Amino acid sequence: MKLDKVDTAIIAALRSDGRASLREIARRTSISTPTISSRLSRMMKSGLIRNFVPVFGTLDVGTAAIVTMEVPVADVASVSERLARMDKISSVLVTAGRYNLTLRVNLESPADLQGFLLELERYGRVRDSIVVTSIVKEEQPAPRLDEVAINLKCNFCGGDITAPRPYTFKVGPIRYYFCCRTCRRSYLEKYSERIKRMKAGA
Ligand SMILES: [Zn+2]
Repeated sequence: MKLDKVDTAIIAALRSDGRASLREIARRTSISTPTISSRLSRMMKSGLIRNFVPVFGTLDVGTAAIVTMEVPVADVASVSERLARMDKISSVLVTAGRYNLTLRVNLESPADLQGFLLELERYGRVRDSIVVTSIVKEEQPAPRLDEVAINLKCNFCGGDITAPRPYTFKVGPIRYYFCCRTCRRSYLEKYSERIKRMKAGA
């Protein structure tokens, strides 16, 4: 399922103000709040929007360094996953060329760098490390929205939802998605008791 104009308008509004309320987004986009709410939950459910987090201005984050590493090609995936879980590493880039991993490392002081590089040596060869002296710009690149697809799974059969307008059903704040009318009906029949209870509780 590809993003449509409604999705991209909502994303554009959120990119200019990530804290905008549904009503504010509605005002800016002329899209109704229930539609915005259902599209947002769809984009979050599919993992397209992972989280809403503050973007800080100038902030003392201690010492930042860029570290390039050379890791055996067969290990790149597993090593980069392990590195990505480390708190002191804020970005892990797999790169082509002389080095295959480039890391952004955040430490309390420059004195911590040597020790941390030794730790990294366990995963591969550290080729270079440079300390960042000032950050002029650092943003997530704007996604190419026309290329983005939403990968939603049917709540009944687990299959991919390919219809441009999925069949949905909402209980309280939770919206369920289905690939077809039959799956929706089957779900409602199978869980009718639970849905009744949820509705009573909501
Ligand atoms: Zn289905």
